[in-house]
Amino acid sequence: MRDTELYRYLLGIEEPWKVSKVELDLANQRVDVWVDHPQDLSWPCPECGNKVSLYDHAPERVWRHLDSCQFKTFLHARPPRVNCREHGVRQVGLPWADAKARFTLLFERLAIDVLRESDILGAARILRISWDEAWHILERAVDRGLAAKEKRICPRIGVDEKSVGKGHSYMTLVCDVETATVEYIAEDRKQTSLDGYFEILSDEQKEGIEAVAMDIWDPYLASVKAHLPQAEEKIVFDRYHLMTHMGKAVDTVRKKEHRSLKEKGDETLSGSKYLWLYAEENLPEKHEERFAVLRAMQLKTARAWAIKESLRDLWSYTRRGWAHQHFKQWYFWATHSRLKPVIETARMLRRHLYNVLTYFIHPITNAVAEGLNSKIQTIKKMAYGFRNREHFKTAIYFHCGGLQLYPATH
Ligand SMILES: [Zn+2]
Repeated sequence: MRDTELYRYLLGIEEPWKVSKVELDLANQRVDVWVDHPQDLSWPCPECGNKVSLYDHAPERVWRHLDSCQFKTFLHARPPRVNCREHGVRQVGLPWADAKARFTLLFERLAIDVLRESDILGAARILRISWDEAWHILERAVDRGLAAKEKRICPRIGVDEKSVGKGHSYMTLVCDVETATVEYIAEDRKQTSLDGYFEILSDEQKEGIEAVAMDIWDPYLASVKAHLPQAEEKIVFDRYHLMTHMGKAVDTVRKKEHRSLKEKGDETLSGSKYLWLYAEENLPEKHEERFAVLRAMQLKTARAWAIKESLRDLWSYTRRGWAHQHFKQWYFWATHSRLKPVIETARMLRRHLYNVLTYFIHPITNAVAEGLNSKIQTIKKMAYGFRNREHFKTAIYFHCGGLQLYPATH
């Protein structure tokens, strides 16, 4: 077998294309492969598909392809052009790459696989391309995925805010709770942020939404009510967000108590912040001993913690009526605790109780939202070198969008 023929196989080059020349550059560890075609062929116009005879060639182009045994491999070709009666002079489609890409389709597929497992810098190193090239492949994959995304109904959605960068800067994320995918990202956390999501949905898609899990946040409430019929029945203030409020109340109690203990030289609560925030069953084993001692002390923080853990039990009921009973008892306890942050949180929950208890009609599990949240935290922390918010959004769509990212191969 001639080496040109071997390369035709290795590169997956199909008829009528043939390898005309292969150059091996040992010093630079690269292989350059030129492909060509017989002259007397007709080609389909990229617009209408009509076969037209060859008009001329565009200047030679180069695509990076999958490595051959650690050697960077480059494909060279002059793309044929046709002169269609209807569409004029056009470059014909090539089987190995998109019209303007610098990489072959197979290389892009590999790059997407690597990018899924690594940050941009790591992927760029593995693939031996620049940061910008790696980022560009990711960006193109997301554009392609969003363009090809089908309009489907998401019966259960979750709305969440994400803080971005420094200060009080936010984004709004809408996720499909069943597929655990991010469906929409908008700037800010205003009513208009969420409006944007509903505005791109068809009537059928909007009517198909059965439940919306969210935090107690008036702008989101207003948006859902403005766009969904019977919104009141569909809004669920979910456990994840409510427990976050309760956690903050416990932490406020702890801070105040810690301060007053410290004034007396008592360091009991030093470094205990996170111990009180864990769900009881999630407390790491290494902290168990110290936490048991703390809990047994007559601390305000321990009381606040016990009230928090009792609230968590609300979601273990299977019936709304029982959960309601539990809430009443819990509310009595919380509001008689003489702990101001706890009392305030309890009152807020009671004001919104109807949409806390809608959980028992739409039991949206928050495992999904929490899982997605930690994934997004990872994206945020990755040494991505995000230069702006758009990059952050694109990366979320890439990793969490459930998109079809690969280019189609011919
Ligand atoms: Zn045409």
